[in-house]
Amino acid sequence: MKNLPVLLDVSDKTCLIVGGGRIATRRAKGIASAGIRINVVAEQLDNRLQKLCEDSGGLVSIASWQQSDIHADYVFVIAATDNHKVNRDIAAACHELGVAVNVSSDHSLSDIAFPTVIDRDPINISVSSGSASPILAKLLAGRIDSIVPAGYGRLAELVTSYRAKVNEVIQDPAQRKLFWERVLTGNVAESIFSGNADAAEKLLLKTLNQETGELARGEVYLIGAGPGDPDLLTFRAYRLLQQSEVVLYDRLVSDRILEQINPEAEMIYVGKKRASHSMLQGDINQTLVTHAKQGKRVARLKGGDPFIFGRGGEEIELLAENRIPFQVVPGITAASGCACYSGIPLTHRDHAQSVRFVTGQLKDGTVDLPWDQLVAPDQTVVIYMGLVGLPIISSKLMENGLDPDTPAAMIEQGTTLDQKIHCSTIEKLPAIIAALPVQAPTLMIIGSVVTLHESLKWFQPPES
Ligand code: SAH
Repeated sequence: MKNLPVLLDVSDKTCLIVGGGRIATRRAKGIASAGIRINVVAEQLDNRLQKLCEDSGGLVSIASWQQSDIHADYVFVIAATDNHKVNRDIAAACHELGVAVNVSSDHSLSDIAFPTVIDRDPINISVSSGSASPILAKLLAGRIDSIVPAGYGRLAELVTSYRAKVNEVIQDPAQRKLFWERVLTGNVAESIFSGNADAAEKLLLKTLNQETGELARGEVYLIGAGPGDPDLLTFRAYRLLQQSEVVLYDRLVSDRILEQINPEAEMIYVGKKRASHSMLQGDINQTLVTHAKQGKRVARLKGGDPFIFGRGGEEIELLAENRIPFQVVPGITAASGCACYSGIPLTHRDHAQSVRFVTGQLKDGTVDLPWDQLVAPDQTVVIYMGLVGLPIISSKLMENGLDPDTPAAMIEQGTTLDQKIHCSTIEKLPAIIAALPVQAPTLMIIGSVVTLHESLKWFQPPES
C-alpha cells in the first residue's frame, strides 16, 4: 500500500470503533483529542473507552457487530475486535459502502493508517513507516518529540494572533515573509520556548516597529559543511541552511548535504574544480555582497571547515568592508572526518605528539612546502589537495630524510558511503594510486599512526 499523508477535518464528524479492548481504547485515545464523535459497538467494553466515547458525544452499543452498524456517513470505521474474521467482515462491509476502514490486525485490508503523532497543537508532526516497522516509527517519533520545543504550538498561536496586525504594517509579502522568519527563528521564539510569552510579545512588537529598512538588511552565513556525511553538519549549520534564501556552494559539498537545504532557496553553484574555477574568487565575494544588500539571507556553504584551506577569510573581508552582518559556522575539517572514519588517530601517545595540516597543491608544476619540518619525528602530516602532486611530495619527503617505509594512507571521498582507504608507505603509495581510478577529493595521512588502521579499521562509516 502506498500512503499519502493528508489532514482530515473531523469537526462535527462521527467515527465508529468496533471492538472494546486494549487496541480499540488506544485508538480512541489517539483520535479523541481531534474532537471527533466516537461511536462504539462491542460485546464488552473497557471503562476508559466508554468514558472517551461518552465525552466525545458518541453512542455506546454493547452488542455483537451487525452489518447494519456500518453507515455511509461515518468519516471512518476502525475494526479492532480480537477476531480476525470479524475484522475482515467489517472491512468488507465498509468497502461495500465506500467507507474508509482501518483494520488493526491487518494492514492490507486498511484504507487508512494512523501515524504516531507528536502533538504541538496546532502543529502536529506525524511519523509513519507504512507497515514496515511501527516500532521504528515510534522510536523516531520519540527522538523528534525530544528535540521539538514544547512551546512550538504557542509560537504558532502567537503568529495567528498577530497576523492581521503584521499584514497591516508590512504590506510587501516578501518583507513580511522575512519578518516572520526572523520572529520564528530569533529571540521571540526563544522567549516563547522559555515560557515568557510577555517578553515574546514585546520583542515581536519591537521588531515590527523597526524601520522596514532595518528588516531589509541581509546577512551572510559562512558555513562549514563538513567532509561529506550529512550527519557531520553542526546543528547551527543545519538551522541556518533551513532559513537561507540564497546558497552558494562548491564542488566539495556532497549531494546528501545539499538535500538538507531549504528547497525554496536559490542555489548558486560556484564550482572550483582543480584549475578550472567556474566562478572567480572575486566574483564569489561580490555575489555574497550583492545578495545580502538585497536583504537576503545568504549561505556560503563550503566543504569541511571554512577557515581551513577554505579561503573563508577572504570572503568575509569584503563583507566586513560593506558592513554586512555575517557569522562563520565551523565545520569538521577533512582531516578529522577522514581520520575518524578510517580508524587513524592523528595523534597517539606512542606514535605522534603533533600533527600538521599542509596543502599539497601544485604551483608551476612544483609543490612548495617546508620539507625539512615535515620530516620531523613523532609527527603526523596531513596533506590536503595532494593527489596530483603525490609523486613530487613523496620524493621530496624522502630526499629530505623521511624513511621510505614511513606508513602513508590516501583516503578517497572520506566519510561518504564511497569512502576508500589505500594504505602503503610513502615510497610505494604514488605507484599504487597511479594504477587506480581514484575519485577526488582525497586526503593523505603520513606517519606511523597509519599502522593503527589495521587494528581500528572496524570503525568504518555507518552503512545507512
Ligand atoms: N575547507 C576544507 C578543505 C578545502 S581544500 C576542509 O576543512 O576540509 C580541499 C581539499 O580538502 C581536497 O582537495 C581534499 O584534500 C580535502 N577534502 C575535502 N573533503 C574531503 C573528503 N571528503 N575526503 C578526502 N579529502 C577531502
